[in-house]
Amino acid sequence: MSEARIIDGKAYAAAIIGEIAAEVAGLKFQPGLAVVLVGHDPASQVYVRNKAKQTVAVGMKSVEHRLGAEVLQDELLALVAALNADAGIHGILVQLPLPAQIDSAAVLDAIDPAKDVDGFHVVNAGRLAAGLPGLVPCTPLGCLLLLKAALGDLSGLEAVVVGRSNIVGKPVAQLLLRENCTVTMAHSRTRNLPEVCRRADILVAAVGKAEMIRGNWIKPGAAVIDVGINRVPAENGKTRLVGDVAFEEAKAVAGWITPVPGGVGPMTIACLLRNTLEAAKKAALF
Ligand code: NDP
Repeated sequence: MSEARIIDGKAYAAAIIGEIAAEVAGLKFQPGLAVVLVGHDPASQVYVRNKAKQTVAVGMKSVEHRLGAEVLQDELLALVAALNADAGIHGILVQLPLPAQIDSAAVLDAIDPAKDVDGFHVVNAGRLAAGLPGLVPCTPLGCLLLLKAALGDLSGLEAVVVGRSNIVGKPVAQLLLRENCTVTMAHSRTRNLPEVCRRADILVAAVGKAEMIRGNWIKPGAAVIDVGINRVPAENGKTRLVGDVAFEEAKAVAGWITPVPGGVGPMTIACLLRNTLEAAKKAALF
């Protein structure tokens, strides 16, 4: 059997970003994205810097608010309220994780659902679950766009999503259901996980456990989307990134597979910009 075709998330993301930039250039106003970063988490600092860079690169306005780790909940809520009221801001993203003294759910729910470009607000989660239009979380949307680019119509396919978090697993499952897949959600209590995975025409791994999904868990010809980002020790004392899927083993069995890095990761930021553009265009209608 031939090897899996690689789904090049970097290339798809670049194409989406190019389309967004062209559309922004034709608008009569400039969409604005505000990113709120609390504390000094090094990974969050890198994400926020990248997001700001790409936002500016597509011609949007990027506004960054950096707050100290000791910020009070009321101060953060006041900032969110000010951004909600700012007509020049169309998307608001509060970078997670937030420090322990902050109730993250309360902060996310304070964001105007129309500006909730992360798609984490309960109103947007509810709209997705109810099959209504709304802002969809970026990483799950990225997974869906990659699957549609590779497979086309997903209708009737067996999909297994491993992981049920609110930010990845659950919305991925909702999106696949919307595409008429037959969806199974697996998690840490699932019995016979390898057997469940072997049923999948589409296997999405969003667990956070390095190379947990082995080649012999995969149905020959399946499309495998690896959301996991895990840092593991490499030779010469350094570290490297791997996904939740044992890539080399899986590649020998699957029909399609996303690499880590260079698969789902780049799609997340492209979908954030897509959501910001969508929110901005909708705001311009009112
Ligand atoms: P969470 O830790 O919130 O959720 C992990 C899920 O995996 C849970 O539902 C958990 O089950 C399940 N799980 C844990 N262990 C097992 C197991 N042994 N067998 C089956 N299921 C298991 O993680 P996230 O959803 O936030 O992220 C998942 C991965 O995706 C991480 O590696 C993260 O870094 C990555 N990620 C990548 C992004 C990107 O841009 N590419 C964006 C966001 C995340 P239970 O609910 O029962 O505990």
